[in-house]
Amino acid sequence: MDKLKLTQICTNCVMDTTDSKIIFDDNGICDHCNNYYNNLKPAWEKLNENKLLEIATNIKNQNNNNDFDCIIGLSGGLDSSYTAYIAKEIMGLNPLLLHVDAGWNTRQAVTNIEKLVDGLGLELYTDVINWESMKELQRAFLRSGIPDQDLPQDYAFFSSLYKFARKHKIKYVLTGSNFSTECCREPEQWGAYIGIDKKLTYGILNKFGTSENFDFPIIDVFKYRILYKFIYGMKVIYPCNYVEFKKDDVEKLLNKKYGWEKFQHKHHESRFTRFFEDYWLKNKFGYDKRKAHFSSLILTGQMKREDALKRLQNSELSEEFLKKEFKYVSKKLEIDEKELQDIFKAENKTVDNYSSNKWLIQLGKKALITLGMENRHIR
Ligand SMILES: [Zn+2]
Repeated sequence: MDKLKLTQICTNCVMDTTDSKIIFDDNGICDHCNNYYNNLKPAWEKLNENKLLEIATNIKNQNNNNDFDCIIGLSGGLDSSYTAYIAKEIMGLNPLLLHVDAGWNTRQAVTNIEKLVDGLGLELYTDVINWESMKELQRAFLRSGIPDQDLPQDYAFFSSLYKFARKHKIKYVLTGSNFSTECCREPEQWGAYIGIDKKLTYGILNKFGTSENFDFPIIDVFKYRILYKFIYGMKVIYPCNYVEFKKDDVEKLLNKKYGWEKFQHKHHESRFTRFFEDYWLKNKFGYDKRKAHFSSLILTGQMKREDALKRLQNSELSEEFLKKEFKYVSKKLEIDEKELQDIFKAENKTVDNYSSNKWLIQLGKKALITLGMENRHIR
């Protein structure tokens, strides 16, 4: 790789060669941008509120005496909060709101959830993850040296949601995933390994910790892809893609209606994710997820490229604050501060250093793309 390539930034967004598989065209525009203009945007433009209302009618018609029409995982962040709002106020549904408490809620996330649930008059279930198991898994993941440190939380959220849906015989999952703020996907390399991987998880757990007394919800990739989708007939709906979604406007709307407070940056509802994305991933691995977040906003006309470049020059949080968070994370996970520092300095690894079901997950992803069920740019 020559020096020029090492520092190349897309001329349209702020993605760069820290995504080592990025491809630039003759105008210096990256493949994330080209995929957005050529594939995502045309698909997105076909969606509208009328179609969403048709879906809502369908969901209601298929509900046979169930208390709930659908389920929504609520983190207290913008996307899931807006999804709950759309479900109730636009689609006229009665969703079951599920909050999975993995031990890292910020106070703001908790307050937002309370305000929203009260304001919408909906029912909230909270699934509290066994903290001893969560801690064991997170410590093992940190010691493994892979960039994907948010997998334990993701697995807990996702697995719990699907188990809950199954328990309550709910067929529709409404998710906050959306094109407006997420059309530029973080490459997998940036600690965004896609897919629930039991093999990877237990391998790491047994190597760097113990799976004795491990009590943690984790559904297998086979179960998710085959059983839930094709046997139980569960469907995932993306309501945010059917309605107007400008980040600033939605933040104002939720604030005005429910007193919901906006976060400084995406994913700040979890104290661990905030630490992981703002400090660990950026400083240990050199991956700044904000580049993908900001690029999404640039592509959808919600942020100026020059503002993004300026903001990327500094951390979202002060060095002093992050030092405190380092101490907090080490104390909370009961991992010695010296050990955490040693892990931070140790050699970086990737998922490929461990046994996993990666090939199978990739095969599944390719099948979804081929079948036209996934058009986002995932790699
Ligand atoms: Zn680009």
